[in-house]
Amino acid sequence: MADKKLSAAELEAGGLVEAGTAAEFHTGSWRSQRPVWNKDKCIHCLTCWISCPDSAIKTAPDEKKGTVVTGIDYNYCKGCGICARECPPKIAALSMEVERK
Ligand code: SF4
Ligand code: SF4
Repeated sequence: MADKKLSAAELEAGGLVEAGTAAEFHTGSWRSQRPVWNKDKCIHCLTCWISCPDSAIKTAPDEKKGTVVTGIDYNYCKGCGICARECPPKIAALSMEVERK
């Protein structure tokens, strides 16, 4: 006898993960290096913000510049170093340091 084909509605639900749970995961604990931001050097070009795979560059609205960098969210920064690599070399407002636990 051939297997009965089930419709999508008849299939049992597989493993479901509730949406939005990543916010509860503080992946910054994985970090072995941390980016250090120098606000005096920063020209707020936002290259680091657009490059960060973890959306860990914090920004805020600014009357004159539109949007400015305000720091790094170490709860989510995994220390990949992309921001420091992408910050314009002549500016060098981000540098990587060994994480102190
Ligand atoms: S890339 Fe560098 S200069 Fe540009 S906003 Fe980020 S820290 Fe500032
Ligand atoms: S080190 Fe990586 S994860 Fe952390 S702020 Fe920079 S780009 Fe984002």
